[in-house]
Amino acid sequence: MSAQKRDYYEVLGIAKGASADEIKKAYRKMAIQYHPDKNPGDKASEEKFKEVSEAYEVLSDDSKRQQYDQFGHAAFGAGRGGGGGGSYGGFGGGGIDLEEALRTFMGASGGGGSIFENFFGGGRSHNPNAPQEGADLRFDLEIDFEEAVLGSSREIRINVNETCERCKGAGSEPGSGRKTCATCRGAGQVVGGGGFIQFRQTCPTCRGAGQVIEKPCTTCHGQGLVKNKRTIDVKIPSGVETGSRLRIAGKGEGGLRGGPPGDLYIVLHVREHEFFKRNDLDIVCEVPVPFYIAALGGEVHVPTIHGGAELKIPAGTENGKVFRMKGKGITSPRYGTGDQHIIVQIEIPQGLSGKEKKKLEEAVDVLTEKHFPLTQKMLKAAEKFYEHKRALEKE
Ligand SMILES: [Zn+2]
Ligand SMILES: [Zn+2]
Repeated sequence: MSAQKRDYYEVLGIAKGASADEIKKAYRKMAIQYHPDKNPGDKASEEKFKEVSEAYEVLSDDSKRQQYDQFGHAAFGAGRGGGGGGSYGGFGGGGIDLEEALRTFMGASGGGGSIFENFFGGGRSHNPNAPQEGADLRFDLEIDFEEAVLGSSREIRINVNETCERCKGAGSEPGSGRKTCATCRGAGQVVGGGGFIQFRQTCPTCRGAGQVIEKPCTTCHGQGLVKNKRTIDVKIPSGVETGSRLRIAGKGEGGLRGGPPGDLYIVLHVREHEFFKRNDLDIVCEVPVPFYIAALGGEVHVPTIHGGAELKIPAGTENGKVFRMKGKGITSPRYGTGDQHIIVQIEIPQGLSGKEKKKLEEAVDVLTEKHFPLTQKMLKAAEKFYEHKRALEKE
């Protein structure tokens, strides 16, 4: 764990005794300020975003916060085994990654398939008669490795609440208006409780609006929204990875009373590939090399995400040797192009016939000890070990 890890309270700029509400407020403010969507390509903001998310993740959870108050960062460090919180894996040394931070952010903004609703944009208005922006939506999309690396386009079908055509999201039958709520007589609040304890609460009939719809719209039954299946074309740019999010403006839930629709966020999940592995913008791939090519030198065919390529193998190439093919990695519009790394996996012939074996024996006849330095080294080291062992056993 890094020594200069900052105190979580300090990170959020709050006092040690801060209430849950204060913690959430502080986190919300900073998370929005440093959110990657607002600061594209800005690594410093991303770090900040991760830092505040990590702090919030701990301080917003009573049991984690208690542990943190008691043990500090050590509560979640590697050295603390078996005790306390249990399910909490801890952030070890490196803190949380961006994907986790985004999840925290989504969790904090309400979850339930509709994100940012309370955080970004207009959100829920205080005046129930005012235009209201539609909620943002989240859609999880699984894509192939190839699609992530090269980009692609996809058609997705989602169920979404759209603004009702008939009433334009007003909820009232066209031509009809609103009337004063009978329950609260237009105040928007009613007095509840009994005896000595009385309190004011939002009117349950009009939900604080003071007015109710005279005649509910026959299509949406006064909701202002109707469920619809919608087909959306999603352009996936090259270089995306699991956790990458695509924002499709205006394709979220419909707005009410003339408010604009929300946005749709596509969260990507990339399937594993059979032989390509990804490391940032680099591609790593294990390639079998016949033993005689490894010994004598030659060329082997290697797949790259850009197509097939030939790789020169120098004579005497050992198993596990890594070759780098420059510029054969992933291209990201933002961060450039990576390389491909080839890990040599020497292949030994299988299923030799008697005749073939004999020929091979004749061929390897030219080889002597000096052609196998690793074997010689091992034998020498082993001899030393036996000597040492014998000496110890005599004692
Ligand atoms: Zn309607
Ligand atoms: Zn009312």
